[in-house]
Amino acid sequence: MPRIAYVNGRYVPHREAMVHVEDRGYQFADGVYEVCEISRGFIVDMTRHLDRLDRSLRELQIAWPMSRKALHIAMSEVIHRNLVRDGLVYLQVTRGVAPRDHAFPAPGVRPSIVITAKRLDTVAGAKRAATGLDVITVPENRWERVDIKTVGLLPNVLARQKAKSAGAHDAWFVDPDGTVKEGASSNVWIVTKDNVLVTRQAETGILRGITRTTVFDVARKLELKIEERNFSLDEAKAAKEVFMTSATTVVMPVVSIDGHSVANGHPGATTLLLREAFFDVAERSPA
Ligand code: PMP
Repeated sequence: MPRIAYVNGRYVPHREAMVHVEDRGYQFADGVYEVCEISRGFIVDMTRHLDRLDRSLRELQIAWPMSRKALHIAMSEVIHRNLVRDGLVYLQVTRGVAPRDHAFPAPGVRPSIVITAKRLDTVAGAKRAATGLDVITVPENRWERVDIKTVGLLPNVLARQKAKSAGAHDAWFVDPDGTVKEGASSNVWIVTKDNVLVTRQAETGILRGITRTTVFDVARKLELKIEERNFSLDEAKAAKEVFMTSATTVVMPVVSIDGHSVANGHPGATTLLLREAFFDVAERSPA
């Protein structure tokens, strides 16, 4: 079955899904995106994802390309046309197509929108969660507005590639003072010896992950204590458990950091509990 993408109002075969060479997303990374998980035919946490999209668009003064209701319909249509039951739906909005000039184009240039969906292998995801991830660290080198989910991801690309070349699964950005920021495409958490969940506050320096927000709800339901504060790389290395959260991986244990084993080198019990309880708590919208 051929894959189908949505591009500016049309459903087109994936291999013919194209944007113009003067799309500002292509030329300036002048655009934003969202990735939502699809689980058993439902879009997970769609309200929170579209609220964050709204915030990203407002921060960059890009107009909504269509109504929120129409966007939900188009997302569902792409999911159905690609027969995705478990996977991801990706949506990207850029400032549109205009002659290359750094300043915003004339009013009336319509934002571009692209939606794609793909299946994910849930068995492979479960296997990975059963063994956990090895991560490396890289110096923080991104701009200070990483709270906006822009398609400008070059530092993240280089960090992930560095991890791959080193035989690790992922990379974390760490400040010069040793403070852990976040992963290349995920938020980072630790579980202390006293079973307290710790994750960096999201006011500055990281993306406010939707999975992160929902894990707060899951933790409350499980009556686990949470602290939102900075933590250092040394604290992470000495933690009882470490995990990462993202829409793509949900709750994923980390078992080594820069070659140093976390606890006994196996995924922690609290991490796996949060992973298991996640879908009982997350919002599920029909696709
Ligand atoms: N931080 C970064 C840099 C990311 O790219 C992502 C993935 N979108 C996250 C955190 C996690 O966000 P979410 O839980 O919304 O997927």
